[in-house]
Amino acid sequence: MALTAYDLSGRTAFVTGAASGIGRASALLLAEAGATVHCADRDAQGLHETVTLIKDKGGTAQSHPIDVADRTQLAEAVSAAVEASGRLDIMAAIAGIMHSSSVLETRDEDLDRVLAVNFKGVLYACQEAARAMIATGTRGSIITMASGAVDTGGPGLLCYGASKAAVVQLTKTLATEVGPQGIRVNAVAPGWIRTPMTDKHDAEKQAQTESVMVRMSPLGRVGEADDIAHAVLHLATDASSFTTGQILRPNGGVAMPW
Ligand code: NAD
Repeated sequence: MALTAYDLSGRTAFVTGAASGIGRASALLLAEAGATVHCADRDAQGLHETVTLIKDKGGTAQSHPIDVADRTQLAEAVSAAVEASGRLDIMAAIAGIMHSSSVLETRDEDLDRVLAVNFKGVLYACQEAARAMIATGTRGSIITMASGAVDTGGPGLLCYGASKAAVVQLTKTLATEVGPQGIRVNAVAPGWIRTPMTDKHDAEKQAQTESVMVRMSPLGRVGEADDIAHAVLHLATDASSFTTGQILRPNGGVAMPW
């Protein structure tokens, strides 16, 4: 396939979680491929930094400081983006939080908060994007952020894993519902990626955790935010035009489900 399939000139993307880690790396890469990128996050300072990085490289970006768990804020930001750019081609719903507690110690408020951000925040983004794409007849691409947690489980992963499993179900269901309009919906399920989310703030603990991941990976390394941004880019572009309802697993080979 020609490399022009990766050209996003004239396209508009909306990226949640764009202030940090995987979201920031994805926003930068989508902008580098030519897209106008609307960056959303609750961290206004981080958003400002991402937008500045994009503009410094000659790209076009706008920031939307919002809480993705608030349906109204998300809807208003997406409609402002569509109004500013005239269309929406790509939604990358990346914002998320981690929470770890055993099943027996999990409180209602923990579960509610994780589901509100990681599942409902992605659901609202998907709904707003699909509505905007349908209204303008755009054959767009929606990308959700799941996790390797959906394949492996593990102690403490109840809330986080449940929210990501719900994202996978949302992705597959929406793919079947909007496929006839030419809209593609896919999930990325990364393995362990070095970002602020996985930063243990303790060099010894960090090295211990990472050495487990390195041993589990046939590639012998942990992932970086850029590894996932390239998976997002692939799903955002025409290079993946026959791919929908799929889970892409950039995980260094740590898990190899069917
Ligand atoms: P990160 O903490 O660096 O970035 C997460 C971003 O989401 C932050 O900028 C944060 O401000 C934003 N955010 C959180 N809650 C929000 C809310 N309510 N409204 C708006 N913005 C909000 O983490 P990351 O590692 O880049 O994670 C990005 C996504 O990738 C998450 O969905 C995460 O679950 C997923 N993921 C990460 C890993 C990993 O190992 N880092 C692995 C699998 C999946």
